[in-house]
Amino acid sequence: MSLYPEARFMISAADPVQFPDDAGSEVAIAGRSNAGKSSAINALLNRRSLARTSKTPGRTRLLNFFEVAPGARLIDLPGYGYAAGPREERMQWGTLIEGLAPRRSLRGLLLIVDARRGLLEGDHQLLAWAASLSWPVHVLLSKSDQLTRTDAQRVLKETVRIVQDSAGTRTHLSAQLFSAHKGSGMDEARATLEGWLGLPPRRSTTSTPLQRGQLP
Ligand code: GDP
Repeated sequence: MSLYPEARFMISAADPVQFPDDAGSEVAIAGRSNAGKSSAINALLNRRSLARTSKTPGRTRLLNFFEVAPGARLIDLPGYGYAAGPREERMQWGTLIEGLAPRRSLRGLLLIVDARRGLLEGDHQLLAWAASLSWPVHVLLSKSDQLTRTDAQRVLKETVRIVQDSAGTRTHLSAQLFSAHKGSGMDEARATLEGWLGLPPRRSTTSTPLQRGQLP
């Protein structure tokens, strides 16, 4: 039984004019290419291949909107960080993302960061931008199954410290360990998503306990 039976792909937008109506609530999800964003979306929504759409050639540079439940959307931002593509493509990326800035539906940003690598350049830029817009940010330190417990805790602590430094004074910033493959951190990540989207909590029974570093 799916946790979000109504979850569906809505549209790949190449231009802000194609964005769905700015009504209801939405959460943006971003990360460097290969950080584990598609795996995270599929795991969070408990769908094996919903986010495959975002990997379809031609759609990787677009903003992909998913409806999680009526009036509640997830916006999959294009992955960044690979040796920059053509200049026009980078400009298109910027224009698309900037198009989200005025949206009143936007409740927060889920930032997917490979726990083995930590925050890298594009992540810092996105954090600074989110802070300038007073968007709450929750970092999922993905692939945490690849780290020892000690290393995972060290990365979590370090990430919390860095995002705290990037925070606007009233912006909510938090981070947690996450593994799409093992399901660890799933309940906590879903709780953040559901809280932002205003959805009633849905829990799987198999998730492992959470490890969280939340800022005051
Ligand atoms: P995206 O480019 O950010 O959408 O990344 P993908 O979701 O396609 O994942 C990139 C690679 O990381 C793939 O080889 C995935 O199998 C791997 N990956 C994603 N999540 C996990 C995880 O939780 N644990 C491990 N070990 N690998 C993962």
